[in-house]
Amino acid sequence: MTKITIAIDGYSSCGKSTLAKALAQKLNYSYIDTGAMYRAITLFCLRNKLIDKKHHVDEEKVVKSLKKIKVDFKFNSHTKISETFLNDENIESLIRTMEVSDNVSKVSSIKEVREKMVILQREMGKNKAIVMDGRDIGTNVFPDAELKLFMTADVDIRAQRRKDEMTSHGQYFTVEEVKQNLMKRDYEDTHRKENPLTKAKDCIVLDNTDLSKEEQLEFVVKLIADMQLTREGVTG
Ligand code: C5P
Repeated sequence: MTKITIAIDGYSSCGKSTLAKALAQKLNYSYIDTGAMYRAITLFCLRNKLIDKKHHVDEEKVVKSLKKIKVDFKFNSHTKISETFLNDENIESLIRTMEVSDNVSKVSSIKEVREKMVILQREMGKNKAIVMDGRDIGTNVFPDAELKLFMTADVDIRAQRRKDEMTSHGQYFTVEEVKQNLMKRDYEDTHRKENPLTKAKDCIVLDNTDLSKEEQLEFVVKLIADMQLTREGVTG
């Protein structure tokens, strides 16, 4: 089967990474969580006091610091996931906090931050056989991706799912607090100047409000199989 690039974009907490991980495993592809990269930079900014309590980001200092920031992934064969590293420190468990979620959209709106991350993302995906999820993968990082999905779901369902996930990691917030964070991030991510979250013209919209994880995977696997058949039909 021809190796392809799969771009998954969509709103916050729509289950993009869950679907992306399952797809990557099924197809034996690599999976890259680009949100984790922006979260890693946000963690750096918080640790180095480049963001104040009112969520004001010192953009000039962030841009100056970029040369000191290294973000990459290492595959953990035990957990079977690619873990996020910031300057060689495994920060996978430190980047899903509400503090990082509250500040990440501001950091990710900085042009120079995006430029640096997009270069890394294109490098990681240059050989195809990759599933990458984020906000601008199908529109900007890989505009030629063979399959572009745009995921969405009812915001109350998303907030509940995210709350449950946070609770399972020992982070306790109300559904309303989580919902406010999701809505704020969605607003900032869709309204920023640099590569905002939008639907690519050739994307397939997947609303998973009423779909189980298995149904979503089945839907996409079938899409890929149909695509491959069409291609073979065209080229064969
Ligand atoms: O996917 P996740 O929710 O972890 O992403 C965190 C944040 O990173 C998003 O709210 C968005 O601000 C930013 N992001 C982005 N572009 C991407 C991936 C994530 O701006 N490709």
